[in-house]
Amino acid sequence: MSPTPRPSYLDGISDVDDVVAVRRDLHAHPELGFTEIRTAALVLTALERLGWTARCGRDVFDITDLPGLPDAQVLDAAEQRALEEGVPSPLVQQLRGGNTAVVAELAGNHPGPTVALRCDMDALPILESIQDGHRPTRLGFSSRHPGVMHACGHDGHVAIGLALASALSDRDFPGRVRLLFQPAEEGVRGAEPMVRAGVCSGVDALLAVHLAFGLPSGYIAPSATELIATDKHLVRFRGRAAHAAKAPEQGRSALLAAATAAVNLHALPPFAGTVTRVNVGMLHAGTATNVIAENAELAYETRADSPEVAAELTRRAELVVRTAAAMHEVESELLRTGWAQVARTDEAVAAAMTAAAEGMATVVPEHPLGASDDASLLMLAVQEAGGVAGYAVVGSDSPGPPHSRVFDVDESVLPVAVTVLERLIRGGALPQRPGAEGKLQ
Ligand SMILES: [Zn+2]
Repeated sequence: MSPTPRPSYLDGISDVDDVVAVRRDLHAHPELGFTEIRTAALVLTALERLGWTARCGRDVFDITDLPGLPDAQVLDAAEQRALEEGVPSPLVQQLRGGNTAVVAELAGNHPGPTVALRCDMDALPILESIQDGHRPTRLGFSSRHPGVMHACGHDGHVAIGLALASALSDRDFPGRVRLLFQPAEEGVRGAEPMVRAGVCSGVDALLAVHLAFGLPSGYIAPSATELIATDKHLVRFRGRAAHAAKAPEQGRSALLAAATAAVNLHALPPFAGTVTRVNVGMLHAGTATNVIAENAELAYETRADSPEVAAELTRRAELVVRTAAAMHEVESELLRTGWAQVARTDEAVAAAMTAAAEGMATVVPEHPLGASDDASLLMLAVQEAGGVAGYAVVGSDSPGPPHSRVFDVDESVLPVAVTVLERLIRGGALPQRPGAEGKLQ
């Protein structure tokens, strides 16, 4: 039998180079976007113990007026749960209200590039399988938060980041390493507030690593392709209630406006020569059969594999929503709750990653994701400032696809990922931006 997960928050951080134990502890305590208080507290405490300079709060995460933030009730409940689970109150105070990002940095003992690694921390609103065939259930480390599950491997990403931090705490590497522990990757909401806070400034090379995603154990792809742009929107329609028999003409149906928008969003055309997607994933409207519905709420997303098509789809989708609202004479409020851009891995990063993975895994040059990740915004911020960036996939077998109730990580790949990243950083093969050359950081 494998060891049972560590029972308390403080035990869980005593030895972060035990990458499997940390992953299991996090798997048992999954937290949704912006509520990763326990996770961030664990990260912050572990990194400080290891001698890293760790920061959190508005300095690294500018969530002012962020539409994608959960409401106050959800944030308060997260705070309460973190306290109940043993996170010390001063730490909870620092991380409450959606402020769950952590950025940590350590300088190596000789000059070199500043390398950033993005580790996303959030889980998904999925009820984890309780079948005995599901390994986390069988071994006793399945989710203790009903309806929330690490079904995308982010528990592994955090564990890898912490084990790497532990390995590098001897400072025997060139340049500097900056670890970006990002909240709310799901819904692509958490990267932009980090970019806005300036966490990419001074970064020469940025890397994001994702486990699994259809790539089997034993393989590493230094370059993920089909990392597509996406826009997520929430629309609130506000109409006027009226008696459905006595005076229907006096009502303005928010329900019909939302339904019209839903159908016509799905009537947006595919674009020749590129991958596109449109999905209306949520629609709530109305209160009773005999009342013209006053309110409706709808959430949709658009995706495209080119920035131009992504912008055009976003424009047309908004036109559909506004026009549907106009037809029914209701008000519409459109909020962009998250977004990601198309991203490409730079050759220099792919080459360095390939070299680091040699002998550790079979390298496949590319792996198509066919999905979106707002690490793309961090990548672009670095690339636009003259640096390089990459998105790598570390293969992991799983009994089910990501975002399913039976997703699991093959834990034997976790130490492999740590070693590959360690070699990548110690090797110093990642380039420095032209202006940054020779500068003492
Ligand atoms: Zn993911």
